[in-house]
Amino acid sequence: MQDIEAKDKQYVWHPFTQMQEWEAKPQKTIAAANGIKLIDTEGNEFYDGVSSLWVNIHGHRKAAIDEAIIEQLGKVAHTTMLGLANIPATELAEQLVEITPAGLNKVFYSDDGSTAVEVALKMAFQYWQHKGKPGKQKFISLEQAYHGDTVGTVSVGGIDLFHRIFKPLLFTPVQIPAPSCYHCRLASDPASCGMLCVNKLEQVLAAHHEEIAGLVIEPLVQAAAGMLMSPPGYLAKVRELTRKYDVLMLVDEVATGFGRTGEMFACEHENVTPDMMMLSKGITGGYLALAATLTTDEIYQAFLGGYAEKKTLYHGHSYTGNPLACAAALANLKIFREEQVIAGLAPKIAVVAQKLAEIRELTHVGEVRQRGLIIGIELMLDRIKKIPYPWEQAAGAGVCLQARKLGLIIRPIGDVVVFMPPLASTVGELGEMMDIIARAIKEITEGGHVDNDL
Ligand code: PMP
Repeated sequence: MQDIEAKDKQYVWHPFTQMQEWEAKPQKTIAAANGIKLIDTEGNEFYDGVSSLWVNIHGHRKAAIDEAIIEQLGKVAHTTMLGLANIPATELAEQLVEITPAGLNKVFYSDDGSTAVEVALKMAFQYWQHKGKPGKQKFISLEQAYHGDTVGTVSVGGIDLFHRIFKPLLFTPVQIPAPSCYHCRLASDPASCGMLCVNKLEQVLAAHHEEIAGLVIEPLVQAAAGMLMSPPGYLAKVRELTRKYDVLMLVDEVATGFGRTGEMFACEHENVTPDMMMLSKGITGGYLALAATLTTDEIYQAFLGGYAEKKTLYHGHSYTGNPLACAAALANLKIFREEQVIAGLAPKIAVVAQKLAEIRELTHVGEVRQRGLIIGIELMLDRIKKIPYPWEQAAGAGVCLQARKLGLIIRPIGDVVVFMPPLASTVGELGEMMDIIARAIKEITEGGHVDNDL
């Protein structure tokens, strides 16, 4: 199997990867999977602690999803949605409308999280053109935001490392502070500030609402920023203010949707109904690429008109509403219902919280953050003075490589150790994975050196 590794290094360019480093080191190739474990070409098993990039829900090779895809293969694998409908896409749209907050009644399909957000931005922009408010062309987004890698979504992104270089190519949003208390620059005591970040948003809205089409936000958790979590009530406040100032609220549930936060959707924690909700990742249970942008009748109707009125939303992709992916998504939702996945999360979330309380005490842990089964552990060289590790030390990467040696695949975001286990993980498995994380952090940060070799 050295062959396959050599071929990979010869032919493949990996995403979000410094290829010079990739080529220089031994790498793993995954050959198979079983439940929540991945199996490499040498037969070694690893817990899938990243849920194969935050998508996997019920584990790998889940029989009901496998069978749904096979059954659909016996009918039709793909047909376009331009001028045609297909059965799984229609059935799925009905179910998505049923399970998302009341008022989101229309489903526009696309293929991944980035395109779901891209669709929302274009839809919001065009909506105001049709509504006779053509001046509303700008977007509000958050510092540290991540909404995808297409040019539109990078424009509303706020992560310097990923986004800065593309600036000359992008449109410019109005940025508001990230509502992360641990990293707050607005308040000397974020715990009692009454959310100065919300005041900032209101100032921006009061001054600019006539130019603003929409506000785009990751609800509760800014994931790619390193699992930054907003204080309780923040999302509901954003809803209140966007309504007050007639600005559309576009909620990016790509990472948080489908049970990740402990509820089916993060919006439910604060009873928020947005004007648009973007879904992907967990929508197919982690099997196939699919995304959806849900919106209200009010927005949908603004696009209706005779052909000559040119109100059509000219957006669509070759694989939009792919029947195989929609069949997988229908099976995914059926499992949620039949296995009562959401109701079963409480003890799992509790065991993670319990283990995190121990990890919080480690010398080089600055903060631990948890929302359901979204976990971020931020490492600090000096946690009292909040001094981060030098960037080049790659402490987060060191911990994740150590965890891999101990049988758990996780990936860092800078020095935040991210843990996103499949929701199907049992209480026992979660405990084991958390123990590996604790051990890896100790061995790397208290072992006197940071070992970056696999
Ligand atoms: N929005 C959020 C909140 C995300 O976390 C991601 C991916 N991590 C995306 C959008 C982009 O999704 P995709 O990678 O499927 O394009």
